[in-house]
Amino acid sequence: MPAVREQKDESESSSEDEPEKLPCVAWSGVSKRIPVLLFCAEAIVSKDVAIRSVGEKYNLAFKIVRTESRLVRGILVNHGFHEVHPNSNDFNLMWTGSHLKPYLLRSLQDFQKVNHFPRSFELTRKDRLYKNIQRMQQTHGFQNFHIVPQTFVLPAEYQEFSSSFSKDKGAWIIKPVASSRGRGIYLVSSPSQIPLDENILVSRYISNPLLIDGFKFDVRLYVLVTSYDPLLIYLYEEGLARFATVKYDHATANIKNQFMHLTNYSVNKKSSDYVSCDDPEVEDYGNKWSMSAMLRYLRQEGKDTTLLMGQIEDLIVKALLSAEIHIATACKMFVPHRCNCFELYGFDVLIDSNLKPWLLEVNLSPSLACDAPLDLKIKASMISDMFSLVGFVCQDPLLRQPRPDRAGIDSRMKNPTFPCVDTQDKALMCFIVFPGQMKVLRRAQEEYDRRGGFVRIFPTPDTWELYSVAFIILFCVVPSALFCSLISWLFVLVPPSCSKVQARMAFSSYLHRVQLRLLAESRANMGPAWTQKEHDQMELVVRFLKRASSNLRQDMCLEEPSRLLCLSDRQRILSHQLGNFIQLYNQETKQMVESLDKIPNEDRCINSNVFQEFILEASESDLEEVLMFYTQKNKSASVFLGTKCDSSRVKRTSDENRESERHFFIFYVPSHQLRMKYDTAHVIKECFNNRWWSERNTLKSHPPSHIFKLVCDLQVLGVF
Ligand code: ADP
Repeated sequence: MPAVREQKDESESSSEDEPEKLPCVAWSGVSKRIPVLLFCAEAIVSKDVAIRSVGEKYNLAFKIVRTESRLVRGILVNHGFHEVHPNSNDFNLMWTGSHLKPYLLRSLQDFQKVNHFPRSFELTRKDRLYKNIQRMQQTHGFQNFHIVPQTFVLPAEYQEFSSSFSKDKGAWIIKPVASSRGRGIYLVSSPSQIPLDENILVSRYISNPLLIDGFKFDVRLYVLVTSYDPLLIYLYEEGLARFATVKYDHATANIKNQFMHLTNYSVNKKSSDYVSCDDPEVEDYGNKWSMSAMLRYLRQEGKDTTLLMGQIEDLIVKALLSAEIHIATACKMFVPHRCNCFELYGFDVLIDSNLKPWLLEVNLSPSLACDAPLDLKIKASMISDMFSLVGFVCQDPLLRQPRPDRAGIDSRMKNPTFPCVDTQDKALMCFIVFPGQMKVLRRAQEEYDRRGGFVRIFPTPDTWELYSVAFIILFCVVPSALFCSLISWLFVLVPPSCSKVQARMAFSSYLHRVQLRLLAESRANMGPAWTQKEHDQMELVVRFLKRASSNLRQDMCLEEPSRLLCLSDRQRILSHQLGNFIQLYNQETKQMVESLDKIPNEDRCINSNVFQEFILEASESDLEEVLMFYTQKNKSASVFLGTKCDSSRVKRTSDENRESERHFFIFYVPSHQLRMKYDTAHVIKECFNNRWWSERNTLKSHPPSHIFKLVCDLQVLGVF
């Protein structure tokens, strides 16, 4: 009997709650006892009482804030949800048209969901999107991220724009930095037509668009992200092709004709030439087609649409990867539970006559308006599938105490029970070490099972290899009988973490932020009164300096400011001492870099340019997050607190010490091996034969270029 149900009404018959008896429900969780609602698009028209019953039974609720969506409301209501006031906290879903304030995110409970991630504007603001992609071009090669037309942010980059223009004349398109629906967009053929007093983007105009019947069109794709850490991306199988209303002719005389150059529905619906289609079954008529009808047409024209869609997926993954670090960091800071956020983005893609797709923009809240029957057909299915995939746990929002089944899960985590396994077995001890990651894995698998028309485009076996996403399989002290069955469970996606040097850089920047804050506070705090909080903070800094300075290899003379001094003087003195510490600390980091030929784990660290940019922009709390993450991951803060050791010993990190204490072997596995149906014994044997292994992170021979680290205990070797 599902515990959620028990909580609602213990007196009711348990037979009603057998998993198979509830319609429209998928069972999730370790023991498949947590009901998750499944949606069906037909509900929008059929209003079937059976479909409403589960939502009504669990009192599921939603609220819609700062937006209006009849489609979302209709689907939820027809699945038994009821709408609560925008100020209410008793909801399962908050559907909002804008970003959420951090305090609202922080207050979310584990069963509650919102339809945006924090900092999504890194993708959806045109200027931020371009900057993030430009950064990837610089760090990963221009060609690899040549997915957006060349763009400049004016007036700041006017010089660069002028020199580009003089080298290669042609049309440019001007866009406000943060607007949508074609508003404020126009074409220019000379820099003199561009205003210099406004914040605008100027992009190279793609003057050779692919045409259908002589008309320019673009494609709207629906992309769902359910997690940024690890990144999970789904693309909906259907989209929309939107056509201009005037035949394309790129002569300069037509440059002002919006109905020819812009493909937005909101622009073209104003044209008297706009043709809409009343039959949802006719998908290739008028100014809006389904994406599949457009692809069918191109296939008939002899175009390689498989290649085209592959390139479009590649473009989507790359755009999301370019913003991943910002959004994942914001999630760590503000989002209390892994499943709280999901986001549906509208990707607008233009295809040129060479069949190359270009990313034009990413929409924060893609239009869910259903002006034509085709809109309703596509969007109702897409939204239903999205709600099933993200997975609403059937939990009455008014019953906020921890669910009894949740308590069950937690205790199972402490004493996990696998079939045929002795609970004293060492394999289970290892399982306890990584329960969070097991949850991530299970969640990804459950989402995948409920994906409907969504296709997971990242990660896939191909994208793991293509984008060189590092992941580690951890399987320690596993009895051989269970080994192969556990391996598919133990796939753990680990986002790249920072290296030791980067951890030290983050720490130094963090201290610098604290130093500046102390200084600013000392200036503002001239009065004699000071709070307990300020007192505690000062004590913390003093204690930290005492400990950390004793860890420096050079002596640092630390003078604790007298308690007789006023607060502002103490703050100033401490800030000064912190400055001295940072200087010595940075010197040691520099020596550390110079003395190491190759920093262990550097291959898996965050790209250095990305990291530098992050450090420059990060706030004190951003940095604190990074350091906490690093400390948790390495179970030690000694790397950035400093250790009195000589540089040759720096190589032996706490990781390695722990690993060698545990007699771990580290295998370097070529990714194609991992794609071979996880025949682990074979993979390990191959590693041994090829000598792609080491006991202490030093390779015996060079591994192939795409490698993954496989950490394995000696006992595992009994497998073969
Ligand atoms: P908005 O958010 O206002 O819709 P877009 O960037 O999507 O702004 O641009 C609106 C339209 O202008 C697109 O649908 C496309 O038809 C056209 N467009 C935008 N950028 C370019 C470009 N670089 N080259 C050619 N056409 C473009």
